[in-house]
Amino acid sequence: MKPRALVTGGSRGIGAAIAVALARAGHPIVLNYKSNDAAARATQAAIEAAGGSVELARFDVADAAAATAAVERLAADEEHPIGVLVNNAGVARDAAFPALESEDWEQVTRTTLDGFFHVTRPLVMPMVRRRWGRIINVSSVSGVMGNRGQVNYAAAKAGLIGATRALAYEVAHRGVTVNAIAPGLIETDMTARVPRDEILKLIPMRRFGRPEEVAALAAYLAGDEAAYVTGQVIGINGGLA
Ligand code: NAP
Repeated sequence: MKPRALVTGGSRGIGAAIAVALARAGHPIVLNYKSNDAAARATQAAIEAAGGSVELARFDVADAAAATAAVERLAADEEHPIGVLVNNAGVARDAAFPALESEDWEQVTRTTLDGFFHVTRPLVMPMVRRRWGRIINVSSVSGVMGNRGQVNYAAAKAGLIGATRALAYEVAHRGVTVNAIAPGLIETDMTARVPRDEILKLIPMRRFGRPEEVAALAAYLAGDEAAYVTGQVIGINGGLA
């Protein structure tokens, strides 16, 4: 039996596609989300239809007490260890920098960076002890290149890349890999209101990516085949960067 995989922000979009792909690869799934029960149940049904097993875990990754308690409970189940962690939960609150409210800054940085900390820390030592683990952080092309209107989002996603590289150094010799995926524009709720015609001109492939394309990369990184890949930031963006 493959180790359990925890996917944060797994109810919709990229996280949902990653959860389905990991379930297809044989990992029992713990599907975290913040509040959208209907979307989580739909993804649960998709995983079960694909022959996978899934447990829902509703908590806010940015809430230190709630996230830590939930993840420590998962980590305490030594019979069903979490071997794969996908830090995917994220939000965007875009505005030109002078118009950016402190709430926009905090919500984005807390979800991405505090969320990474709350969810990852309780799971790292159990992975190190078992000499096997896969941590996959969903960053963004915005964290690599920057993007206008996204000073908060780019800062958070670049911070996540720094955390990826630093943690990869710490745990590489223990069989635990830590990598970041940096998607370009992917068809999800997050990009539903992006002005499409202007953006498409900037993407060499002239299309948005599909969540399943990102999920295939995550599934590769989660597998034994990717044992020698760590500390990397892998773009998936149709040639945008
Ligand atoms: P999405 O469709 O908006 O879905 C966001 C997911 O994150 C939902 O499952 C949501 O749960 C969950 N979530 C949000 N805040 C949370 C919190 N505080 N605690 C727990 N779960 C939380 O987004 P997406 O486009 O799939 O994006 C997924 C990740 O990819 C994000 O990190 C995003 O920044 C990154 N990304 C996306 C794109 C893109 O073009 N779409 C490009 C680059 C990077 P609920 O359903 O309960 O709200």
